[in-house]
Amino acid sequence: MPRVVTFHYTLRDPSGRVIDSSAGGEPVVYLEGGGQIIEGLDEQLRSAVSGEKKRVEVPAAKAYGERDPAQVQRVKRALLPVEGELQVGDQFQTDTDRSAPIVTVAAIEGDEVLLDANHSLAGVDLTFEVEIVAARPATVEELAHGHAHGPGGCGPA
Ligand code: ZN
Repeated sequence: MPRVVTFHYTLRDPSGRVIDSSAGGEPVVYLEGGGQIIEGLDEQLRSAVSGEKKRVEVPAAKAYGERDPAQVQRVKRALLPVEGELQVGDQFQTDTDRSAPIVTVAAIEGDEVLLDANHSLAGVDLTFEVEIVAARPATVEELAHGHAHGPGGCGPA
């Protein structure tokens, strides 16, 4: 029976650098198997209980995937929908459509730009320090919707 789990986390890369953390903010709430958190973390928290603190290591393949060299493309600078100066590391959407992929400027070579559409965490093994705040069985409604419900019912938890 899938559960709804609430947890705080600190996410680190292999060098120990903190990438992200929920500390000081709202904890994450998710339905097990609902795809709201990365697969490898969901899998490894299946037996975690309320109050438990756990260190979870997730290989890149079970996190944001391996890097795909085919996702790096060379384009003419003049074709990009970006005003002003471009710098390596800049990120932008390739289209005004909100669902358009986000690309990162990997290199600038003359009037051409190398754009990397891989997720910035692709190819990175992740370590989560997790503290389980709560875990309860999912309701029938949550299972039907495929996501966790907050105190107010359907909508952001
Ligand atoms: Zn719902």
